[in-house]
Amino acid sequence: MSISVSNPTQVRRSQAPGPLVTEAELPPGQHFIDGAFRPGTSGPVTQVIDPCTGAPIATVASGTVEEVDAAVAAALAAQGEWGRMVPKERSEILHRIADRLAENADLLTRLESANTGKPAMVAEDEVAGTIDTFRFMAGALRATTSMAAGEYAEGHLSLILREPLGVVGVVTPWNYPLLMGAWKVAPILAAGNSIVLKPSEQTPLTTLKFAELVADLLPAGVFNVVTGRGSVVGQRLSEHPDVAMIALTGSVGSGQAVARGAAESLKRVHLELGGKAPVVVFADADLAAAAESLRAAGYWNSGQECGAACRVLVHESVAAEFTELLVKEVSTLVVGEPGAGKDVEIGPLNSKDHYERVLGYLERAKAAGIRAAVGGSALEGPGYFVAPTVLVDVPDGAECSREEIFGPVVTVETFSDEAEAIARANDVPFGLAASVWTEDARRSHDVASRIDAGTVWVNSHLVLANEVPWGGFKGSGYGRDLSIYALDDYSRTKHVMHRQGH
Ligand code: NAD
Repeated sequence: MSISVSNPTQVRRSQAPGPLVTEAELPPGQHFIDGAFRPGTSGPVTQVIDPCTGAPIATVASGTVEEVDAAVAAALAAQGEWGRMVPKERSEILHRIADRLAENADLLTRLESANTGKPAMVAEDEVAGTIDTFRFMAGALRATTSMAAGEYAEGHLSLILREPLGVVGVVTPWNYPLLMGAWKVAPILAAGNSIVLKPSEQTPLTTLKFAELVADLLPAGVFNVVTGRGSVVGQRLSEHPDVAMIALTGSVGSGQAVARGAAESLKRVHLELGGKAPVVVFADADLAAAAESLRAAGYWNSGQECGAACRVLVHESVAAEFTELLVKEVSTLVVGEPGAGKDVEIGPLNSKDHYERVLGYLERAKAAGIRAAVGGSALEGPGYFVAPTVLVDVPDGAECSREEIFGPVVTVETFSDEAEAIARANDVPFGLAASVWTEDARRSHDVASRIDAGTVWVNSHLVLANEVPWGGFKGSGYGRDLSIYALDDYSRTKHVMHRQGH
């Protein structure tokens, strides 16, 4: 992100004459089952809200158990043929999906911004990542490997087959609705499975638009969407006996609910849950580079980011200098509505509930004597905007430095030595991501290898690529998104052994 000077205590409002998307550009607010949009059978609908204003922008069907069952039946019927296609055929379809998304990138970007309030630069990055995920998986599915066929038991030839699982249920969150969907959909389809996906009830629009855009590219039933509530649609997917695996990206509570639901049928579970990424800054680090990196990594997507660099642990000898640099960086963030210019960096929080949740953390921190060196409160005017915040004087064990706030809030704590830094970095229930900042090669390796996190960056934070895996340890879940590891997760291994000639 480029640095531009602004006042982070004011929301820059859009001067554009109309909305980001027209009525005609919205997808149908219906389920997508067996290759076609279908209205919900029950009365209730969900209102989709613009978080910049609190005004409704669309209504979407709220699914029932019967609708999930219909989608699973369609997915089951379609999976066999899809799974038997040779890799080249499935690969070509995934490439065509990527092409179709690229042709519609501008619309998808505007739609994602309209539904989530995220700035254009964040939505553009999300759409680009989505396209690249499909392209990577289209290539990777043609280059899978496994152990060599051979005679491992005397007189017997062993072959390892990689097979699809069947129907995979997918449940996605609201922070990156399209991208989190793509991280599941691309490898699941690549591995030959069919899908029933439930997007977040708050942000279903780009998922429904995706279904509309790719409807003619995929055989009917291979990809289905049922919109609605987690406790109904998500729960039924996790319990359904014909669903072979349930993959969820979301909060710890939803992960636990899904795992419980899956237990009865012993289906596989894939969970990408919350995070509270420690950022360990040693005295020898390039402090200016760390502060500049945190400007993006701590606040990207308004901090609604599971890998956000939100928990700084800085050596006591450089804490004052580093905090000053960080506050200076954060003070230049441009807050605004997505239509207020390409340079807007921070949008609103995604919903009223979440906004109130984040403000609750800030109020409790203040009551506990923790100081906001910048920000610390809501911003004036309509919508769910919270000022980019740095909390300092944070004591060990404070709520704001242990729990996932999921907002534009970075906490700063201090440590005295390396052992303490590692112990404190690991002393949270999460284990998704972390970063280590030092110029010392021995330290960068030792500390990175002793931090309990699925991804550890050295002198960087929040840089991702489709070739490398993403996923957590401990309370952040299990299973891997991205890379060939995701293809493994969505496949099963079969050993076929032939007795050879007598
Ligand atoms: P959430 O858990 O509230 O919702 C996620 C999805 O789960 C939604 O579609 C919701 O309807 C569904 N759900 C809720 N209850 C359910 C139930 N009982 N059974 C099945 N599904 C249910 O999470 P959110 O607020 O949408 O997203 C934010 C959370 O997601 C944060 O904790 C964040 O860290 C996490 N996240 C993790 C990653 C990662 O890669 N690890 C990525 C993005 C977000």
